[in-house]
Amino acid sequence: MANIETKGVIIKQNDYGEGHRMLHVFTQSRGIIKAVRYNAKRMRSKAASSQFLSYGDFELRGSSGDVMTVHSMETIDSFMPVSENIKKLALGNYMADITYALLGANNPDERILKIFLNALYALAYRNESEGKVKTVYELKLMSAGGYMPLLDRCAVCGSGEAAAFDIEKGAVFCKECKSAGAISISAGAYRALRYITGCEDKRMLAFRADAALISELNRISEKYVSTHLDKGFKSLEYYRSVAEM
Ligand SMILES: [Zn+2]
Repeated sequence: MANIETKGVIIKQNDYGEGHRMLHVFTQSRGIIKAVRYNAKRMRSKAASSQFLSYGDFELRGSSGDVMTVHSMETIDSFMPVSENIKKLALGNYMADITYALLGANNPDERILKIFLNALYALAYRNESEGKVKTVYELKLMSAGGYMPLLDRCAVCGSGEAAAFDIEKGAVFCKECKSAGAISISAGAYRALRYITGCEDKRMLAFRADAALISELNRISEKYVSTHLDKGFKSLEYYRSVAEM
C-alpha cells in the first residue's frame, strides 16, 4: 500500500510492547484501516493525539502487509468530554463496534464517517441524552449502510396508519395486516422512525422526544442492528450496565 494523507477517527486502540499502539482508524479515503503507532506513549505531548475517538489529519505509510504505520497525526478534535465520561465512552465503543461490523475493513464511506462524527459531536458538546444519540446513530448507520427500513405505509394494504414494525423484514404494518413477528409501535415511535431514517443527516438529532419514547426507540433500533448485522455486541452489554448506574 502506498503512503496516504487522510482525515480519520480512531475507533479502536490496543497498547502493546514498548509503548506501541495498534489502531483502527476510520479514514475518509480508505475506510477502516489498521495502523500502528510506534512509541505512542513516549511522545508525551503527542500521546493524546492517538487516543480512542481522536479525529484528525493522518499521514500513513504503507508496508507489505495490511497494517500501515502512523507517520504523523494532527488532532482536529479529541472529543474529550466523551473520553472523560464512562457512559459516553461506553456508547462510543459500541458505536465504533457496530460501524466496524457493518463496514468491515478497507471500505470507504464518507457519509457514514460524517454520521459517526455528528453523533460523537452531539455526545461531546450538545445537551443530548446518550439514549437519543444511540438510537439515532443505530438507525442512521443502518439506513446509510444499505438496511433502510420501508416505513412509508403498511407493506400489505398500503394504509398510512402503521401500528407495527417487523424488524426482520424491515417493514411496517397497519393493525389489520400485522404479521406474527411484528411488534406494536406507538404513533410517536412511528413518526420518529420515519424522521430519523428520512431526514438530512445533519438534522438527525433535531427532534423532540421524551424518555419513554427514547426507550421505545432504543428497543427497536438495538434489535434492528443485531438482527441485520447478525451479531450480538459485548460493548452493548457493557453500555447497558453503566447506563443503569
Ligand atoms: Zn395493512
